[in-house]
Amino acid sequence: MTHEDCIFCKIIDGQIPSAKVYEDEHVYAFLDLSQVSKGHTLIIPKTHTKDIYETPPEVAKELFAKVPLIANALKKAYNPIGMNVLNNNEAPAGQSVYHLHLHLLPKYKADEGFSAVWVTHENDYSSDALQQMATEINESIEN
Ligand code: 5GP
Ligand code: ZN
Repeated sequence: MTHEDCIFCKIIDGQIPSAKVYEDEHVYAFLDLSQVSKGHTLIIPKTHTKDIYETPPEVAKELFAKVPLIANALKKAYNPIGMNVLNNNEAPAGQSVYHLHLHLLPKYKADEGFSAVWVTHENDYSSDALQQMATEINESIEN
């Protein structure tokens, strides 16, 4: 379903031009304008869904199914030394376009391109605390 004010729906429809990498029945992949690193690609479902929270399992399945295909194409084309797959949800987490998308970010040098700051709090949690947290999350799962 296309959303009128969604720029990614317009890209899928061809109303906004894009550098298309791949397209099939379910997904569309194109180069991110920002090119955080060479080949930085976005993969999006053709079904409009705002973010990961609102994504039906079928759409998630079809979307992620194509990630290895595009990742391997980037690896073959540009020989990166690593690859990050990133999905931002809600503004505080960096989402700026509200049509679900996965970033494929090839890494060519350890200190260039995308990087995440991994703040560890390992020492703050006992194994009991971790178990309790796991239970709390598990009890929140709605199937
Ligand atoms: P987010 O910040 O939501 O995770 O990622 C949105 C991405 O979409 C940004 O990296 C931004 O560069 C990219 N983007 C926004 N508008 C356009 C556009 O019109 N064309 C393309 N190719 N990329 C876009
Ligand atoms: Zn959309």
